[in-house]
Amino acid sequence: MTRITICAVVLLLAPTVCSSQIGTSIAGARDAIVRGKYAYAAEDLEELARRDTSGEARTYLATARMYRDRRFYDSLEDFGEAFAAGGGASFIVAHSHEVMSDAEVVNVCRGWLHFRSGRVEFESSESGHAFAVTAAEVREVDTNRLARGLFHIRIGDRKWNFRTRTATRDEAQLVVAIYSKCVRSAAALGDR
Ligand SMILES: [Zn+2]
Repeated sequence: MTRITICAVVLLLAPTVCSSQIGTSIAGARDAIVRGKYAYAAEDLEELARRDTSGEARTYLATARMYRDRRFYDSLEDFGEAFAAGGGASFIVAHSHEVMSDAEVVNVCRGWLHFRSGRVEFESSESGHAFAVTAAEVREVDTNRLARGLFHIRIGDRKWNFRTRTATRDEAQLVVAIYSKCVRSAAALGDR
């Protein structure tokens, strides 16, 4: 009797345990991406994406492939599929605390910039530098003309300057394309 009860409880808990295990595995893959282990992370995420129903594994799989292969046009398609699956696009960025130029920016905080349907979030290593806003609150996302690999986000009166991980114009342009194609358009649909 007890054994049957235990089995029933295990069966009831199984879906929750599985989804939290996937969450932990995705967090591990995210850390691997931060450490530059892109191929290793992509391998794990390919397997996780088959079981994950939230679209998050697919999102970070697209991120790992982008940094591994640097084929940014393909990444636009990969991230588009991640949005369609309920996820989005996530980038590792450095937030500059100085006036931006081509010179190496020293004073920065680092973190993840997340684009999801109608939402933009900066998950920062520094308290007070994180934000989570709706696309309707974002005034502009654009590349910085004077330096490669840089882009900015205007929210209210504040301008946030970011450097992409690959420090390439292509990655900065991908960020802008994802925002206008997948984030802003979703907000416009929501406004109707
Ligand atoms: Zn910062």
